Amino acid sequence: QRQPLVIGNWKMNGSRQLVQQLATTLRDASEMLGVVKVAVCPPAILLPAWQQEVFYDQVHLGAQDVNEHAAGAHTGEHSLDLLVEAGADYVLVGHSERRQHYGDTEQRIQAKVDAILGHTEQKLTAVVCVGEHEQDREAGHTMQVVQGQLEHALANVSAAQLMQVVIAYEPVWAIGTGKTASPAQAQEVHAFIRQWLQQRYDAAAASVPLLYGGSVKAENAETLFAEADIDGGLIGGASLEPQGFLAICRAA
Ligand code: 13P
Repeated sequence: QRQPLVIGNWKMNGSRQLVQQLATTLRDASEMLGVVKVAVCPPAILLPAWQQEVFYDQVHLGAQDVNEHAAGAHTGEHSLDLLVEAGADYVLVGHSERRQHYGDTEQRIQAKVDAILGHTEQKLTAVVCVGEHEQDREAGHTMQVVQGQLEHALANVSAAQLMQVVIAYEPVWAIGTGKTASPAQAQEVHAFIRQWLQQRYDAAAASVPLLYGGSVKAENAETLFAEADIDGGLIGGASLEPQGFLAICRAA
């Protein structure tokens, strides 16, 4: 009963021109958009350009991060209200690049999730990113690391709010490296995440989309998405090429 979902994370890439190109490509593939839910997360400054191109009911727009505070003296940051005004209804939280380089502690990630789910004017979706480093995997600690990240991020999330949550499993060693997790490796972690959600939330867990991210390309998307608990993907580099991204969406 879970609709396939593919999210493009442009990271610090793209341009107004790419917005136009991808919007045109997706519009020409509108029959696919009825089957697969697609969200695009460009740099926040490009969100208004998307708003001009795309019908909201066809493609969802997302932000790559949000500040946990509602407003105030936070130079350089974006509040939830600003992102919503610019058209975002998805927000990525706890991406490994933000955990590693931009001060996203477990505590901040939890505060961001709480802010997104607590937003009253519009129902937003929090895309919570989790994933282990290579040394965690080598030491056999993958599930432990992922569980710790989930416990912190979802600490205050109720079963009713779970409808607004997507979990993205992105092993850090697979991000931008060309080293994709095998479908079996990814499915093993996804099954673990599903089980953890079930223990905590019961039946509500069944509707949470679980996305895989990390060097997904048109060539490997289909076998990954064929796994029982992989409901789609969070796509970095390959989301910058419209035809390739479309092929990944079609594989979901
Ligand atoms: P790549 O697809 O470039 O490996 O990036 C994955 C990612 O981090 C998406 O959020």
